[in-house]
Amino acid sequence: MINILRFNVYIPSSLEDALEFLKREGVEAAPMAGGTDLLVLMRDGVKRPRKVLDLWPLRRELAFVKRGDGWVRIGALTTIEELNASGLARDRRYLGFMDAYKQFGAPYLRAIATVGGNIGTAHPLSDVVILLLALDAEVRLVSVDGERWVPLSKLFRGKRETVLTPTELITEVRFKETPKGSSTVLLKFDRRWGHSMGYVIVGAYMHLDGGRIADVRLAFDSMGEPYPGRAFKTEDFLKGKEFRSEVISEACSNVLPREMRRIDDYRASAEYRLDLSKVLMKRALLKIKSRIEGGEAYGGS
Ligand SMILES: Cc1cc2nc3c(=O)[nH]c(=O)nc-3n(C[C@H](O)[C@H](O)[C@H](O)COP(=O)(O)OP(=O)(O)OC[C@H]3O[C@@H](n4cnc5c(N)ncnc54)[C@H](O)[C@@H]3O)c2cc1C
Repeated sequence: MINILRFNVYIPSSLEDALEFLKREGVEAAPMAGGTDLLVLMRDGVKRPRKVLDLWPLRRELAFVKRGDGWVRIGALTTIEELNASGLARDRRYLGFMDAYKQFGAPYLRAIATVGGNIGTAHPLSDVVILLLALDAEVRLVSVDGERWVPLSKLFRGKRETVLTPTELITEVRFKETPKGSSTVLLKFDRRWGHSMGYVIVGAYMHLDGGRIADVRLAFDSMGEPYPGRAFKTEDFLKGKEFRSEVISEACSNVLPREMRRIDDYRASAEYRLDLSKVLMKRALLKIKSRIEGGEAYGGS
């Protein structure tokens, strides 16, 4: 049977207008950016908002990639395509964004799926979120009552649940420019390309000073909770150590499994997911090292 959706769409004239609308409508309304996730959930009856706030008219103010004062700022309505075209993904330090682009869905999706939607959907397998976590990003939430910055690592509360109130919108995400001698990577394992979201995803950032790991951040699709998270204990183990194969093997094989909990489901067993996580983490660290050392130009694999 065809599920006929009945809902009204509000087209705001400005960000203020959109925020006023949310204040008036509260839980009755859902913001929609590209709609690549929301409309699927509505079609399947998982979400049933009576009113949809179309954010697309706000792209004039909320689609951007800006760099300055030591920060990289990405507007919530920036599409995956625009993020890739922005030049950020060609900076050796941020090649992880090129990885995200290459592995993200299909071309038609990349043209409308947004960075803010990737965050707002609060799904464990949100590629861009996992990379942004490794970059220690924070998110700007705005309502008619003001604004607040929330670390991305504190934004999720459950699968498809965030700390956003029904009157708040995500307007941008930002992270500090990373130092010379650092780089990023995003690796995703799946059996098919184009229309599926992967089994395990790792996003990693590392700064090498000589042969020493000056800083490292590791994010996975899940650490045990049903949303993306950081492997803080594994990061602590690696920080300050020489980048040597024994150190990396110890971190992947023994330290990571002590803090990571994986689930069994119809797609894969917990054991398989944990094994994949160890392998992908090792590959990610080796790939970043090669990127820092200039062994790999512009994201080629
Ligand atoms: C076939 C297919 C393949 C996919 N492949 C991938 C993939 O490879 N990698 C991946 O990460 N994702 C993938 N996705 C999921 C989806 O495309 C992404 O999560 C995308 O980034 C969502 O962005 P959007 O703009 O379409 O969000 P929308 O669908 O518009 O919104 C998603 C959620 O976020 C909320 N929201 C959106 N914008 C804001 C805002 N500014 N403030 C507050 N809340 C907001 C909405 O209310 C909704 O709950 C895929 C989806 C499909 C259908």
